[in-house]
Amino acid sequence: MRDKVIKAILDSGKEFVSGEELSKELGISRTAVWKHINALKEEGYSIESVNKKGYRLLDSPNDLLNPQNIYHNLQTDIIGQNIIHFNKLESTNDYLKQVGNDVVEGTVAISEEQTKGKGRLGRVWESKVGDGIWMSIILKPDIMPYKAPFITLIAGASVVKALNNLGVNAQIKWPNDVIINDKKVCGILTELSAEIERINYVVLGIGMNVKNEDFDSKLKNKATSLHKEGYKLHRVDIVKEIFYQFELLYKKYLDNDKEEVLNICRDYSAILNKEIYIIRNDEKELVKCIDVNEEGNLLVKNSSGQVKEIISGEVSIRGVKGYV
Ligand code: ADP
Repeated sequence: MRDKVIKAILDSGKEFVSGEELSKELGISRTAVWKHINALKEEGYSIESVNKKGYRLLDSPNDLLNPQNIYHNLQTDIIGQNIIHFNKLESTNDYLKQVGNDVVEGTVAISEEQTKGKGRLGRVWESKVGDGIWMSIILKPDIMPYKAPFITLIAGASVVKALNNLGVNAQIKWPNDVIINDKKVCGILTELSAEIERINYVVLGIGMNVKNEDFDSKLKNKATSLHKEGYKLHRVDIVKEIFYQFELLYKKYLDNDKEEVLNICRDYSAILNKEIYIIRNDEKELVKCIDVNEEGNLLVKNSSGQVKEIISGEVSIRGVKGYV
């Protein structure tokens, strides 16, 4: 019922909707409407109540990641049609892996806080309460498991496209990070459950720093947030744009069209034509990035002029002077 009240208030936009109308529409008493409205105010919705006129929204609730706010006017068929919201979770990726076989494709788990947020290879992803968008999407593509790493590139491309559409100057650090001014604003972690010839599901984790004002000493030099870079965007607007862009590119990919993803990865790359270090276990090699090939792998040239193909997922990349 709370969700229906939210929807009615969102639908009426800046117009008042009376307690009586709401009570008729929803089939509940006016006191029940009033109780729901009060609970919504406590959740953070800014709702004005005026005698004889009713209720209306003062500010758009675009920073509250409540599923109803995200569903409202969402332009997708699959991604984000089923959203599960938590205040606190160990890891949104781990949650979706537990329920993976029982939820529909496109289901999203989103949490205000992660207590065990993860990066690749067991690294930690800092996900403090309310600071960011900590979410995971489940996908069930009918493709061979060895092709799954490409989904990381689709995610990177869609996040970068979404941010640029919202006015943010963001780039991709192949294969899985999105950066602004040479610092990481978003990380992507793709995990796979598969048999030899078929995928059960892919869990795509996206962690984006939105409102963080500070990072601890270990992250200071390499992490940033949208707010720190001067982009005061709302989380709901970002989430909806990512869902929309991701679905477009994902559907194209399933139709065997990888070109747009590859072009975005090239056009918005933070490392192409630059010298970088490739780090694998304890080895560190200085190379020049040349291209992202049709498989989505990185082509680099080493100091003796040899061209090598780097497979996504097996290395970390660092710039000559800093993070990029
Ligand atoms: P890499 O940066 O080497 O590609 P990952 O993609 O696995 O590594 O990301 C994990 C790393 O990201 C962590 O080891 C940490 O340095 C950094 N990190 C952790 N939390 C955040 C965050 N909220 N924002 C930016 N960077 C973070």
